[in-house]
Amino acid sequence: MCGIVGYIGEKQAYPILIKGLQRLEYRGYDSAGVALLDGGMKLYKRKGKVSELSAYVSDKDTSGTVGIGHTRWATHGVPNDINAHPHSSPSKELVLIHNGIIENYATIKEGLLNRGYQFLSDTDTEVLVFLIEDILKKENCSLEEAVRLALNEVIGAYAIVVMSKNDPKKLVAAKKGSPLVIGIGEDEYFVASDATPIIEHTKNVVYLEDEEFAVIEPGKKLSIRTIKNAEITPYIQELQMELENLEKGGYEHFMLKEINEQPRSIRDSLRGRMDPSTGQIKMAGIDEFEKKFLNAERIIIVGCGTSWHAGLVGEYLIEELARIPVEVEYASEFRYRNPIINENDIVIAISQSGETADTLAAIKLAKSKGATIFGICNVVGSTIARETHAGAYTHAGPEIGVASTKAFTAQVSVLSLIALTLGHKNGTLSESRYRQLLEELDTVPDKVEEVLKTNPQVKGISQLFKDVRNFLYLGRGFNFPVALEGALKLKEISYIHAEGYPAAEMKHGPIALIDEEMPVVVIANKNTSYEKIVSNIQEVKARGGKIIAIITDGDKEVTKLADYTISIPAIDEALSPMITVVPLQLLSYHIAVMRGANVDQPRNLAKSVTVE
Ligand code: GLU
Repeated sequence: MCGIVGYIGEKQAYPILIKGLQRLEYRGYDSAGVALLDGGMKLYKRKGKVSELSAYVSDKDTSGTVGIGHTRWATHGVPNDINAHPHSSPSKELVLIHNGIIENYATIKEGLLNRGYQFLSDTDTEVLVFLIEDILKKENCSLEEAVRLALNEVIGAYAIVVMSKNDPKKLVAAKKGSPLVIGIGEDEYFVASDATPIIEHTKNVVYLEDEEFAVIEPGKKLSIRTIKNAEITPYIQELQMELENLEKGGYEHFMLKEINEQPRSIRDSLRGRMDPSTGQIKMAGIDEFEKKFLNAERIIIVGCGTSWHAGLVGEYLIEELARIPVEVEYASEFRYRNPIINENDIVIAISQSGETADTLAAIKLAKSKGATIFGICNVVGSTIARETHAGAYTHAGPEIGVASTKAFTAQVSVLSLIALTLGHKNGTLSESRYRQLLEELDTVPDKVEEVLKTNPQVKGISQLFKDVRNFLYLGRGFNFPVALEGALKLKEISYIHAEGYPAAEMKHGPIALIDEEMPVVVIANKNTSYEKIVSNIQEVKARGGKIIAIITDGDKEVTKLADYTISIPAIDEALSPMITVVPLQLLSYHIAVMRGANVDQPRNLAKSVTVE
């Protein structure tokens, strides 16, 4: 999820670009770069934050009235100077910045390699600028036509801006799946991932739609066409938002923004890895170690906090679908208890940041004992990602709110793919069940979108319970880990004491706590233990507890019993944690805001726990 910015006009581009990049830095901060045109092409890029780029550039020539800039959140290739954007074409005539993932980059790259091209970086992006130049030379066409033809060959998501030394009065921008907005000034244009770099220069903007591209030339009207070459009349809107709101994409907090990003972050984590129409799952890390996985005596999942909860969902998924024994361990316990590990074990390490100290130590220990280590991290090139034998990144984009939300659902989506592919490969999953689950997995982003519509209702419920001192969360089966996660979210940001429990365990202890003061959140969606959970609700009601139930749309039985209900769309229970967790995230968010807590930076917590 990178940030991109461009300027073309009469002013000096560099100050506009660098300020824009600072505003967009929330979208990624692995590396940053700018390219400027002033007769010749100047290209500066640096690993690290925008401040490192500006320090590096401080004694360089930054003149030029045309330029593009990028702040990267790596998906393909580690964060370093070479993989930083902008990327140049083979002749260095073109430069390009990109936000998104070119899914079929490997195929395109192979074709270009066969024709003798040599690549410098490991990114999917460089392939696109090579392809555009290849077409430009072959077809002898305009820059915009070469971009258009190239985009017709691309599968995946992109927001791009292309600049050419031989065509210095023009920028070409296009988008599909990633955002892009064009600002229209007096004889000048701006282009960016969101309006924050634009707002102080002009309020007139055009949001590009998917598969549209724009030819941006100062002094001329903005020209927009689809990549199938249909002309589009630009719809110019006036920006209503204030600058400070825009930095969080219009949300009050990063956490709320990240909760709302989940349809996209889940989709991005599944993108390019599964195809329900052909029934294929492609995960390079699993394919490479297929034999090891299928012959594994057991899988051990290690993680901390929310990642440990995702691991617990992973245990239910892998045991149910692939019938491989799984143990889930707190990394901090695992590393110090002299665990029995051997060469036939697979250890899956889960960490959003890829830097969690205990998880890192746990995998080093397991590695020294000969286990195969598979990582699930969100940050490309992070230490854990480098220490593992194989892995699969979650493509959640940078998570800034300390309380993890979109990283959890992205981790569970990757674990679902792993369980499905293992079950399919080892024959424990029938073809029809496999296909059905794959199709349902494809619907998860849309269903999360549906659940997000319950926000006003969840806010109303939050108002009623914001002052209580304790909360209990109950779930069974696949949703027991979700009960733990719901309780953790509430503790982390609202400082209310909360416990998550397997619903049936309640009677072995926590039931003693229940009285009229005690809200009990029950995940009661339709699943195999539905009748049992209905009984657990009765047990709470009999003791005066207040029930907030997450139910499947149309469930009359629990609606009658519960004090408050939040409906979610029907979904196979194996995939339901990605859906049921969403109202719990919203509940903790609203309660914390109503209590005046600092939601994005809760006391005593840090985003990346690099100490043990
Ligand atoms: N795929 C590109 C890269 O790895 C862009 C990343 C993004 O937009 O997140 O550099």
